[in-house]
Amino acid sequence: MNRNAIPLGRILGVPIGLDYSWFLIFGLVTWSLASSYFPAEFADWPVAQYWIVGAITALLMFASVVLHELGHAVVAQFYKIPVRSITLFIFGGVARISAEPPSATAEFFIALAGPATSMALAVLFGLLQPLAGAFEPLLAVFRYLAYINASVAIFNLIPGFPLDGGRVFRAIVWAASHNLRQATLIAAYLGRAIAYLLIAFGVWQLFVGQFGTGLWIAFVGWFLENAASAQIQQQTLHDLLSGHRVADVMRRDYVAVSPGSNLEQVMTEHFLTSGRRSLVVEREKKVVGLLTAQAARKIPRMAWPTTTVTEAMIPTDLMKRIRPDAKLVDALLAMDRDGVCQLPVMVGDTMQGLLGRDDVIGLLGTLGEFGPTAVATHSVR
Ligand SMILES: [Zn+2]
Repeated sequence: MNRNAIPLGRILGVPIGLDYSWFLIFGLVTWSLASSYFPAEFADWPVAQYWIVGAITALLMFASVVLHELGHAVVAQFYKIPVRSITLFIFGGVARISAEPPSATAEFFIALAGPATSMALAVLFGLLQPLAGAFEPLLAVFRYLAYINASVAIFNLIPGFPLDGGRVFRAIVWAASHNLRQATLIAAYLGRAIAYLLIAFGVWQLFVGQFGTGLWIAFVGWFLENAASAQIQQQTLHDLLSGHRVADVMRRDYVAVSPGSNLEQVMTEHFLTSGRRSLVVEREKKVVGLLTAQAARKIPRMAWPTTTVTEAMIPTDLMKRIRPDAKLVDALLAMDRDGVCQLPVMVGDTMQGLLGRDDVIGLLGTLGEFGPTAVATHSVR
């Protein structure tokens, strides 16, 4: 989601961005305000006024969503958890908080801060209404923002993970059971159940003729179902890989080539005939880069005979790396986050081996086949 974001600047040190999908929802909100919501409430405005007030209201609504996310961010920062970014996208906003909360209390307050901010905004805009007096456009803006912020607060308090309410719920179960793993699974399964209810409700709305609302609710339900399932999958992955370190599965028999080698020759010799996905590039036993299939693909095939490995490789300063004692699950998450399939395993400047996504997937397959006993045996070893 983050790679498509248009940067808008920073607030409290947190980069704020717009995902391209946001423009669609901004257009939809403006359109529904201008074409039906405001005309129903205020009858005699000129057409242009509906659209201008609609667009301003939509912008302020998304500013409110940013404030909601900043609510989460401020409390996260209070607990010393870095916040990577806030992005507005089709389903609202998302604050990317870089670590799992350190305690149930921290999670509880971080999750609650968003809906609390929205509720405070609803009260604020409610109190501002009398100030608008007889000036209808301003009254319309205040009234809608009071209504929408209250709705955002209430919707997000639904106790289905990954909604804020689901996180609050997880924090409570976590505090009661002292078991984060169990709490996560319970919250995620409840999240899935709620997502299915939303989908069913949305479909029912479609049948009773509320086409727009129905489609939207079903869509939100589908999005939540995906997020909850991803959480369950990630937990399963965590469980299977727990106790395993990078050194357990990395390949020590990596192949090194010299930076001056010809790309065509290296590709034919090491990639196209062996199924290898990456090579270490070394000059006098010192690692200078990594040549991956992904990086080589960026060079047109025609140009291979006249290209050196140096020109195609990822140099060490841009190379993602991992330590041999790192947890395997963290390595997998790092590969996902950085969009790479190979990680050089290094201690300082010394290459220890290569870790490929396939190696981890292979291990997962085996562990999945033999069940959690194999994992338990491994972790007590
Ligand atoms: Zn929230």
